Amino acid sequence: MTTEREVLDVDVLFVGGGVAGLAGALHLKHKVDEHNAASKASGGPELEEPMICVIEKGDAIGSHTLSGAVIDPRGLDELLPDWREQDPPLVPVTGDEMRWLNAGGGSFKLPMPPWMNNHGFTTGSLGNVVRWLGEKVEAAEVNVFPGFPAADLIIEGEDDAARVCGVVTNDKGIAADGSRRGNFEPGVEIRAKVTVLCDGSRGHLTKRLVERWGLEGRNPQVYETGVKETWEVPGASAHVGRVLHTAGFPLPRDIFGGSFLYWVGEDLITIGLVVALEYEDPAFDIHEELQRLKTHPYIAELLKGGTRVNYGAKSLPAGGYWALPRPYVNGCLVAGDALGTVNVARLKGIHLGMKSGMLAAETALAALIAGDSSAATLAPYEEAFKQSWAGRELHRFRNFHQAMAHGMTLGGMARIGLQLVTGGRGLRDYEPLGAGHARMLAKGKRRQASEPIKKDGVLTFDKLTNVYFSGTKHEEDQPAHLLVHADPNHCATTCAQEFGNPCQSFCPASVYEMVDDESAGGGAQKLQINFSNCVHCKTCDIMDPYQVIEWVTPESGGPAYVNL
Ligand code: SF4
Repeated sequence: MTTEREVLDVDVLFVGGGVAGLAGALHLKHKVDEHNAASKASGGPELEEPMICVIEKGDAIGSHTLSGAVIDPRGLDELLPDWREQDPPLVPVTGDEMRWLNAGGGSFKLPMPPWMNNHGFTTGSLGNVVRWLGEKVEAAEVNVFPGFPAADLIIEGEDDAARVCGVVTNDKGIAADGSRRGNFEPGVEIRAKVTVLCDGSRGHLTKRLVERWGLEGRNPQVYETGVKETWEVPGASAHVGRVLHTAGFPLPRDIFGGSFLYWVGEDLITIGLVVALEYEDPAFDIHEELQRLKTHPYIAELLKGGTRVNYGAKSLPAGGYWALPRPYVNGCLVAGDALGTVNVARLKGIHLGMKSGMLAAETALAALIAGDSSAATLAPYEEAFKQSWAGRELHRFRNFHQAMAHGMTLGGMARIGLQLVTGGRGLRDYEPLGAGHARMLAKGKRRQASEPIKKDGVLTFDKLTNVYFSGTKHEEDQPAHLLVHADPNHCATTCAQEFGNPCQSFCPASVYEMVDDESAGGGAQKLQINFSNCVHCKTCDIMDPYQVIEWVTPESGGPAYVNL
């Protein structure tokens, strides 16, 4: 059945209303105004007011945003020099500490690595920051459309002439069986001279773009996943701005990761655990480890008397400089987490994501002025990013993740030490790294996960209970937005035998479940995808050892994050 679609023509389209997309859209607006003011003064040609548009899959700006977060203000300082006077939902960091947690219940303070120093920075909920920034973007008369998931790229032309001409948004009202429900609404074609993909960590459109054009960086992108709870703890407001990072318990030495606790304002403490998606044990479950973390006496004491009020999860790109893909093709740029602008050494990426969005905006403006958005016109973006303070920061830590890829080993620490004194070089300028999912071993070959703890419903919670606190929901009568590109028996046979269905463990939202297949009988099992639980973290798309899971946009819905 052919579908007639409404077409919306815009000049520059930012796909994704996170920090990169919003910062990019606002910066573009500022730069257009600057350009036209300068042209007017000099009598040069002015640019006709371009139509700038941001689309966001979340039902509201910020509803799908989750991060620690401690923010290095460098990006905000450039974007909005007077941001401190604009009532941002951020508090200054007042105390900064790093601790080692012992499995036996003890802990001790660690010296703060110089690159982790958070002095002069701010902390808060990134979702709230994005909401605040979204208001500034709308006030600048940029078109911001939340609730518009981009389903696919519009690609026209062949070979070298192939170009991205925009995106098509999801059809709404498709039933689970593929038929059209009564409320069917076809998706819209949003056509743009320049499309800037800011679709986040493992963005599904960026993934297609990278595959279609072969844009992969020197190393494949690797990822981490973070799971996070926000707690309301009476008396926590007395410590607003405190920042605590921990290493050690509950993670085994050969898994890279650690926890964070930030006192983000009022009585709220946000606690999370971040783990590199390079572990070997298919039964490892990060949600379970977050629950275990809270049983450590040092952590339990901090949360005592409190209530968990929110839960969420998100992946983040961790490959750094050598994993940056080529960020441009005809008609299209990539920015933010989709590009991989996270410095895992500093546990920060917000300022880098903003800067990449702003540089993409400047490149888009150059294309509008030239009336040409071919790859040749957009290509300077790559070098502009690499030569900027953001690119130089990533370059300084270009081999950091490689040194930590096997956990916090003595050898890894020594390599980090060498990198410190050689400007990030270490043993050699380029350190290779393989894809994280390839490290997973067959079940029984490696045990890294401890036995699950008994959840008390006060300090510790089972996954499903926590999912409720993410606010996630999806229309049930729609096709699942988790596609398994494999033989229907793959999960119950090959994967069950080799890996024991690790999707049941690595998904932090209990989406994947092996259930009895009554139609087959004989104790056979099948995969059930409880897609309405999905919090859009993309871990399954990244960590599946067969790489057959593809996350795509649902018609709407997803988490409704608050204070995350
Ligand atoms: Fe994350 Fe995939 Fe689970 Fe959704 S189904 S919550 S994207 S791991």
